[in-house]
Amino acid sequence: APPPADAPTIFDKIINKEIPANIVYEDDKRPFSALPDLQRVLAFRDINPQAPTHILIIPKVRDGLTGLSKAEERHIDILGRLLYTANVIAKQEGLDDGFRIVINDGPNGCQSVYHIHVHLLGGRQMNWPPG
Ligand code: 5GP
Repeated sequence: APPPADAPTIFDKIINKEIPANIVYEDDKRPFSALPDLQRVLAFRDINPQAPTHILIIPKVRDGLTGLSKAEERHIDILGRLLYTANVIAKQEGLDDGFRIVINDGPNGCQSVYHIHVHLLGGRQMNWPPG
């Protein structure tokens, strides 16, 4: 069963720079930036890559979004930004021949970290349907 909604995850330590991660994108707290805290994202390379490019894009503030299935109307902006940023990073990574976006949810979706994240996979031919 999924852990309680307030249980911290390993991603908190990555966000707080308590454990290292190979960060490829971060919305910083710039003075005069109009981007609200709840819409800031962080992206880093997956520690167990399933493709030549495998990046995780996450909200810097979880705000109850343990998984996509917990989404509420207040999350619409951050959900949009996660996907938009995946596209920005795909270009940054040179994935010009295409890529795969995955969001695993819950036990049947093989979700293992309960802080919503978008997987960006590329650099090889992806298969469909998935296993
Ligand atoms: P999920 O299975 O929940 O969709 O994906 C979680 C992903 O997080 C997995 O692909 C896993 O390899 C990755 N992951 C778990 N712990 C760490 C970590 O400490 N650092 C990094 N960079 N990735 C992690």
